[in-house]
Amino acid sequence: MITLLKETLSRESIYMPTPARITGMRSLTQSETLFQVELPSGFHLHHRPGQFVELSVIGVGEAPISVCSSPTRSNGSFELCVRAVGKLTNAVHKLAAGSTVGIRGPFGRSFPVERFHGRDILFVAGGLGLAPLRSLIDEVMDHRGMFGRVILLVGARSPGDLLFPEDLSRWAAREDIEVHITVERPTEDWVSNVGVITTLFNKIDYQGRNMVATIVGPPVMYKFVLPDLLAHGLADSDIWMSFERQMKCGVGKCGHCQMHHIYTCQEGPIFSYQEVKHLEEAFA
Ligand SMILES: Cc1cc2nc3c(=O)[nH]c(=O)nc-3n(C[C@H](O)[C@H](O)[C@H](O)COP(=O)(O)OP(=O)(O)OC[C@H]3O[C@@H](n4cnc5c(N)ncnc54)[C@H](O)[C@@H]3O)c2cc1C
Repeated sequence: MITLLKETLSRESIYMPTPARITGMRSLTQSETLFQVELPSGFHLHHRPGQFVELSVIGVGEAPISVCSSPTRSNGSFELCVRAVGKLTNAVHKLAAGSTVGIRGPFGRSFPVERFHGRDILFVAGGLGLAPLRSLIDEVMDHRGMFGRVILLVGARSPGDLLFPEDLSRWAAREDIEVHITVERPTEDWVSNVGVITTLFNKIDYQGRNMVATIVGPPVMYKFVLPDLLAHGLADSDIWMSFERQMKCGVGKCGHCQMHHIYTCQEGPIFSYQEVKHLEEAFA
């Protein structure tokens, strides 16, 4: 059986999932669970922040999921934060630790971290958008001396919907990152900001000239966040966003994820505002 498995894995095909083991799972909210995934001995993901994998369950299907752990903290395994919304994601939620899933990838263009060296960084994360950004935030914080001022803005519907509370506390406890959190529907004991994520812009004083911004969240959020960034002088080429379109193959063959002439699975999912601002489909 093991020999057969190794033979299968040695066939190099972009369409062939590698069997991987779920080594841990932790519920984050009512609908999101964090999975720790380990590839077979000798296999490494070698991902960059912002990239995704195609996660599959045999007999059910496959879906693109961002790698939410940082390459600086990989330790032989990686993490995926999965929201149960449909066929594949609900099936993954029913698995137990020790189960086997399929992994293809990593795919897509990552955040250009090297271009951020020496710059101030503004992270803007709405809802599940904190998952791909978590990988980038930890990469930046693990090489903190290479960057200027670091600000993190996080928005969620309610306190119970906030992802990665331990990480938020860990970052907030540091003096070299400014963390601001808002929720739209507070509970009685909520003491931080209330409102949509743009209300946090009033809380920070920032100049855009030496700043790069990374924004990941629901598409509607981009429309409201971009004007503030541009008004503060950020260059179009310094604003980076993830465009999570319907993806199937992940490797630029099927066309499901096309935005005009662009295959978002290959040329994205990370794009600068400069690259997509003329595309009507990007902000539809
Ligand atoms: C680059 C990228 C990164 C991503 N990263 C993540 C991530 O980190 N975590 C994460 O959780 N997701 C992520 N996603 C989103 C995820 O890939 C999609 O939600 C995917 O469709 C889930 O697959 P599924 O089979 O579970 O859902 P599907 O069964 O394909 O359902 C998808 C959507 O359609 C709706 N739907 C399904 N069936 C019906 C029906 N019969 N009638 C009406 N509506 C229906 C569902 O409610 C759901 O909203 C990412 C997507 C991309 C492109």
